[in-house]
Amino acid sequence: MNIAFIAHDQKKDDIVQFVTAYEEVLKSHTLFSTGTTGTRIMENTSLQIHRFQSGPLGGDQQIGARIADNDMDCVIFFKDPLTAQPHEPDITALIRLCDVYSIPLATNMATAEILLRGLERGDFQWRDVVKEQKQGEKNT
Ligand code: PGA
Repeated sequence: MNIAFIAHDQKKDDIVQFVTAYEEVLKSHTLFSTGTTGTRIMENTSLQIHRFQSGPLGGDQQIGARIADNDMDCVIFFKDPLTAQPHEPDITALIRLCDVYSIPLATNMATAEILLRGLERGDFQWRDVVKEQKQGEKNT
């Protein structure tokens, strides 16, 4: 599965802790992130992550574009609810696209745990079916 990670500055330690705890599960998936989040994760784990731009510089929109292409299966987004973000419109747009395309999205660690346990259990296989269907539609 293609999984994207984003964490606001006050949440970066949390996402590093989270990804470290689930490293074994995550290493068999394709991982993406916004710029600084990915750097922090790679500094602290052996995971390889495709890094987009930093969030405020367009990274959220780049992940959104992958969602619109039906190419992102899960988004783990540790949002900081207590600090105003300069790129709030991009954040809103990313969350909106997850809802448009029914992409599993966690915006805090409690939900992220449940998603990753589901991933471990094979609960995301429906995404393969959706992707095959969309590919079929493109080819006709
Ligand atoms: P960053 O972006 O990982 O580059 O810090 C996250 C964000 O603030 O949206």
